Amino acid sequence: MRLCMISLDAVAQPDADRLLSLSAFSALAENGVFCGNVKTIYPTLTYPIHTSLLTGCFPAAHGIGHNQPFQPDTPPSMRKWYWSVGDIRAKTLYQAAKEKRMDVASILWPVSGKNRFVRWNFPEVLPLPGESAVKKMLEYASPVWILRMEARYGKTRKSIHQPDLDDYAALLCEKLYASRRPPDALFVHLVDCDAMRHNYGVESAEAHAAMERLNRRVERIINAVRKANLLDDMLFCVVSDHGQQDAPNGILLDSELQSACGARAQSLGMGAYIFGPDLAAARKALQAHQAEWGIKAILSKEELEALHAPENVKLAVDALPGHCFIDRQEETFGEHGFGLDCPQARTLLWLSGPGIHIGRRIEEANLIDIAPTLAKALGLSLPDAEGKILNEAFIQR
Ligand SMILES: [Zn+2]
Repeated sequence: MRLCMISLDAVAQPDADRLLSLSAFSALAENGVFCGNVKTIYPTLTYPIHTSLLTGCFPAAHGIGHNQPFQPDTPPSMRKWYWSVGDIRAKTLYQAAKEKRMDVASILWPVSGKNRFVRWNFPEVLPLPGESAVKKMLEYASPVWILRMEARYGKTRKSIHQPDLDDYAALLCEKLYASRRPPDALFVHLVDCDAMRHNYGVESAEAHAAMERLNRRVERIINAVRKANLLDDMLFCVVSDHGQQDAPNGILLDSELQSACGARAQSLGMGAYIFGPDLAAARKALQAHQAEWGIKAILSKEELEALHAPENVKLAVDALPGHCFIDRQEETFGEHGFGLDCPQARTLLWLSGPGIHIGRRIEEANLIDIAPTLAKALGLSLPDAEGKILNEAFIQR
């Protein structure tokens, strides 16, 4: 069996009805299993979540606790992200697939660069100011394939921003399935809706249009699989990572904390990790300014451990609704990074293919269950996974 895994960035439970009214998403639900109540992981950030999708582990085990390593003394625009698969400490589906001699493709997937398990790799990497986008991509991607695709189709891409980049990602998927050697496993991350919500707001016309574009891209990928006569052998897994909430009130928490007690904040959007030599003093400062700094809850070491947060994080905060933590004065719209107690932390899962029930709804699941469930369907070994297999998805248990 082959795998086609598509992640939709920044859609969640509140978007389920809108998505299920669109052709590709409704067809997938009718022909397979759908769950609209998948508990995502803490923190609700794209890189940690996509790593959990690949490993079935929480950040404490897989090691990706944020989109970026903590770099308090580097200007925000110059900070590195977790771009290399080598940053992940747990076994990934990439590696498990490669062990089974499967040919893997990965497109715009976070934390996937410099990847010996992936044959066709177009990773999500962002050039920092002064860096060449092309040079950066070649360093982290599969350079020969990327250059060939760029020579043939690069001109069709209007920009390297959304929604143009997602359209190019869908095109790469089509070309891979139309090739003489289509991928055994393909992972693609579609970012359009996340970009629109961050830039224009959660229920903006732009975000709604992005969902329709996501539907068309998923349809294009499924049609490419059909054209290649691979439909009978294909497991489709469509997932989302987190939703967003409008958070127009930006708080400069890092600079406030620095002046109050010398501690530092690493923003998660609607949450933040707190670091410093004296966390008791930091906690006192947070308590003293709780309302003023837009803080809903202060998370203790024990609470963070129970969330399987990264082990170096001993103090954190969640923001009040409508608030987010920023590093520089800017206008903010949609944000995530909130705690797990809101509907936007319940994500979506569609599974469809041989051996999977038809038209079945699963009431609830955990995001870390997805990787071990896919491993079971494909006969892959993922011994590090902390999630459980979603047996109710399979016709024969
Ligand atoms: Zn995301």
